[in-house]
Amino acid sequence: MPRAFPKKPPAPTNATPLAYTEKTATVQAYLPEIIKGIGASMSHFFSNTRDMFRGTRPDPVTERLADGITTISYPEQKRPYPERFRGLHRLTTRDDANLDGVWSTASPRCVACLCCSTACPAQCIFIEAGEYPEGDKRRGYERYPVKFVIDELRCIFCGFCVEACPCDAIRMDTGHHAVPYDSRDQFLYSKDLLLQMAARDGSHESSNPRHEPGDPTHPGLSREHATH
Ligand code: SF4
Ligand code: SF4
Repeated sequence: MPRAFPKKPPAPTNATPLAYTEKTATVQAYLPEIIKGIGASMSHFFSNTRDMFRGTRPDPVTERLADGITTISYPEQKRPYPERFRGLHRLTTRDDANLDGVWSTASPRCVACLCCSTACPAQCIFIEAGEYPEGDKRRGYERYPVKFVIDELRCIFCGFCVEACPCDAIRMDTGHHAVPYDSRDQFLYSKDLLLQMAARDGSHESSNPRHEPGDPTHPGLSREHATH
């Protein structure tokens, strides 16, 4: 049996029709109206230019505009993003920097568990896992990403990867959106670039640090426990 769709509601009857502009001789002649329009545009142009030079132009980002310029001069002016805006990804680092305070000498917090790439509905994360070298206390305990690539063009910024990560190793708190590029390849963000991205406060570490293997505060099972 064919499905009956609901009927379209009737148009509101209290709508007031707009009155037609009276077609006077000046309206019909076009030229006076064109001159009036140019005059209005020029008066806005000069008043806005004057305000800009005097430094009295209202900030369209933070101030409400009654009239005047209602556009912003992007990218010099940017609207502030909400606190929970999901920006570009970043990979967080451990606090094991070889040089004091030099974050780039720290290792990635990621353990290449593939939870994020598994959870990603857009399948835009590629990870190649590797083992830590012989002698490293993490060898055989956890892995690290040899390659970690995100296709930011295919990403739908759902945040599932951040939710899925058990190590707080991937975050979307950079506050940046992808800049325009002229080729798709430039949207493939590699591990080094993702590690370079900082949080809004400029930090590269996790804001939710966890106990590391070998750390005496580590609350879970360790290799020593496992020998029992
Ligand atoms: S935000 Fe969503 S689509 Fe983008 S990489 Fe993460 S899980 Fe995939
Ligand atoms: S970012 Fe997190 S979820 Fe993704 S592989 Fe690394 S540790 Fe696993």
